[in-house]
Amino acid sequence: MTRLIFLGPPGSGKGTQAQILAQDLNIPHISTGEILRQAMQEQTPLGIKAQYYVNSGELVPDELVQDLVQERLSQPDTQSGWILDGFPRKVTQAVFLEKLLAETDQNGERVVNLDAPDDVVVARLLARGRKDDTEEVIRRRLEVYRAETAPLIDYYRDRQKLLTVNGDQPQEEVTQELRDLIAS
Ligand code: ADP
Repeated sequence: MTRLIFLGPPGSGKGTQAQILAQDLNIPHISTGEILRQAMQEQTPLGIKAQYYVNSGELVPDELVQDLVQERLSQPDTQSGWILDGFPRKVTQAVFLEKLLAETDQNGERVVNLDAPDDVVVARLLARGRKDDTEEVIRRRLEVYRAETAPLIDYYRDRQKLLTVNGDQPQEEVTQELRDLIAS
């Protein structure tokens, strides 16, 4: 049973790595960013509420993402494990998740901190060119990451759930390191 949370700055490669591992393990890759972008594209009520925040690099209000994660983690395909990518992104969300997992008997999650320096992640994001990857929005996402998300590193380290991987190496090497870590 693998339950993994991916932490790391935007551009650290967590989405790519999470997808590869999820495929390896045959468990769902749950990316809150992807779910939100899909909802925006379809202009669902969630997408309409989220779009201002996503497009400006701000965090979407907790309630919206918490509801979507709760809903997603209640689907039958999550019974054999999951990888969460982009959630939690702040301490209040981590507290929510901890409670949700305890209540639904889904404990034993581990947290991978995929780290990479600012200059590396900015270069990768500019090359990627997603709609919210303009220089200004990237800068804001990094600020929000430092202020709101990075504190989760200590939060999970204190709870002895943290694994750290250097995201500043070739993609295949990151994947191999992750596979070794998860197997151990
Ligand atoms: P990146 O990895 O480049 O930061 P994501 O796809 O993970 O991109 O997220 C894109 C955007 O979706 C974020 O900038 C934010 O607006 C929104 N978002 C995703 N997950 C969350 C979350 N857990 N809480 C609040 N907002 C979120």
